[in-house]
Amino acid sequence: VKRIGILTSGGDSPGMNAAIRAVTRVGINAGLEVFGIYNGYKGMTEGYIEPLTRESVGEIVNRGGTILGSARLPEFKDLDVRQKAVKQLQKRGIEAVVVVGGDGSYRGALALTEMGVNCIGLPGTIDNDITCTDYTIGFQTALETVVECIDKLRDTSNSHHRCSIVEVMGNRCGDLALWSGIACGAEIIVTSETGFDEEEVLGRLRDLDLIKKKRHAIVVISEKITDVDQFAKKVSLNTGFAGRATTLGHIQRGGSPCPFDRLLASQMGEKAVDLLMQGIGGQCIAIRDNKIVAIPITEALGMPHESRKPLMNLFERLV
Ligand code: ATP
Repeated sequence: VKRIGILTSGGDSPGMNAAIRAVTRVGINAGLEVFGIYNGYKGMTEGYIEPLTRESVGEIVNRGGTILGSARLPEFKDLDVRQKAVKQLQKRGIEAVVVVGGDGSYRGALALTEMGVNCIGLPGTIDNDITCTDYTIGFQTALETVVECIDKLRDTSNSHHRCSIVEVMGNRCGDLALWSGIACGAEIIVTSETGFDEEEVLGRLRDLDLIKKKRHAIVVISEKITDVDQFAKKVSLNTGFAGRATTLGHIQRGGSPCPFDRLLASQMGEKAVDLLMQGIGGQCIAIRDNKIVAIPITEALGMPHESRKPLMNLFERLV
């Protein structure tokens, strides 16, 4: 392998730049030429591809987002669109690609590998919803952002006998809600794993008000579970607290990556380049029990989500 490419795909996450830098520098230092493919599979198909140098990835390890841009191209599922993309790579002599993104991006990477372009996937998403890895690149940074926001909400809800209902991202994965809920000392956490029984949550809030005499309550809830604005109104009507909903939204995706994410991205980028140099593709990189490992994408996509029961039990014992 002489020439490799790198792209970022799906939702962006803090640490993607550190991954781009690692793949570029490790690649160049090993004698490879490295190309940046802009705007994910869209740019690959359109031929928006440019060489990366040691210098062009300077000053980005600390920056959020992705200098390569990200995009979604649903048509990449079609063989003729992928054939166009492969031609763009062949034109430039790019034999292998590192894909930073989520599950969907991994499917694209697998499809390309099956067409003869070895691809390695890196887990770039704040949602921590890639089941084969303990942590995705961006999760810890997003967690810090969420914790900072909830700490601020706590100050103000404390002063007004409020119940703050905070909706956090996660794309059906409850990790951001669970981790931040524990870290912030929330009163209630709702995720797809806990389920949402509205009456039960209202009852618990009434207990917190009347029996535990809490001055405020924080409910952390994963996105895509319920309409938090409507729920806040019900809290005001049915409990002693004034319900206020806050949807943190895209603020969770931004910011300078925390050291953990920078290190994770660097280690994963290194592993990806090493595999591509050995002529290996169709794998994704994960961190499991503190070790950086490679797993076949076919296996990774089918892995069930690990139960978060132990952390949930801990949370219940802290309330
Ligand atoms: P996020 O977790 O942020 O949503 P993701 O990688 O899962 O990231 P998707 O939009 O699902 O985001 O996928 C990103 C891109 O990967 C798609 O726009 C498409 O170009 C490509 N892709 C997704 N699924 C497939 C597939 N089955 N075959 C080929 N390409 C795919």
